Amino acid sequence: MKDKCGVIYQIQCECDKTYTGETGRAFGIRQNEHRCSILRNDSSSSKLAEHCNEFLHWPKFDESKILATGSSRFVRRIKEDIVRDKEGERSINKNRAINLKGQVRDMVAIGRLTM
Ligand SMILES: [Zn+2]
Repeated sequence: MKDKCGVIYQIQCECDKTYTGETGRAFGIRQNEHRCSILRNDSSSSKLAEHCNEFLHWPKFDESKILATGSSRFVRRIKEDIVRDKEGERSINKNRAINLKGQVRDMVAIGRLTM
């Protein structure tokens, strides 16, 4: 799982809020970057770090999950938005408005964009 590239992942905080992110690189590398950002108190590089440093929380890294895959950044961002939207108030991320256009809207409509 840690070596898997092109993923939408979720990291749970100890307070039960969730962070949802995407990366084209290996999940394990991105997760380590989050860990380092929290330890360095570097909120600018990670929303998760911002949350943890503000509330003095620590994520349950061993329970983090890969929710979906996507070979292009565009598709990953759409899936990420859908997951964040589902999480609602539990989401640590600032949610973006989901705005499906053109080809992606058509893929969702005919059920081709699957998680
Ligand atoms: Zn928390």
